[in-house]
Amino acid sequence: MHQKIDIEALCAERGLRITEQRKVIAQVLSNSEDHPDVEMLHERASKIDPKISIATVYRTVRLFEEAGILDRHDFGDGRARYEPTPEAHHDHLIDIETGKVVEFVDPELEALQKVIAERLGYRLVDHRMELYGVRLSRKD
Ligand SMILES: [Zn+2]
Repeated sequence: MHQKIDIEALCAERGLRITEQRKVIAQVLSNSEDHPDVEMLHERASKIDPKISIATVYRTVRLFEEAGILDRHDFGDGRARYEPTPEAHHDHLIDIETGKVVEFVDPELEALQKVIAERLGYRLVDHRMELYGVRLSRKD
């Protein structure tokens, strides 16, 4: 479901100045499919450029988020998680035992949310849906 999003190209489109370190962080984000937090991003970026500090990663993700090219999530463990703003909407299911994040789209759920908003007198413009679960059976 995760189409790869070219953060670097989006920065250029929005006129964001792209330094070498920002370029590395953009690449790491584009290549991550697991909704990493800042520490995970720093670890991955350090493998490419060991001089990148965690403060730079913090500043850069905030910049990307403010530019609307990065989505921040809170999946209940108190750590902000990031993913490139997807072109097509999806929701998340979080495995509370492993922290694994599963993406899904359900047309019936999407439609139902619109109906609920309208019933309450609103036109739905956005939503966040997070499901938290434990696996029913373990496949070993
Ligand atoms: Zn996602």
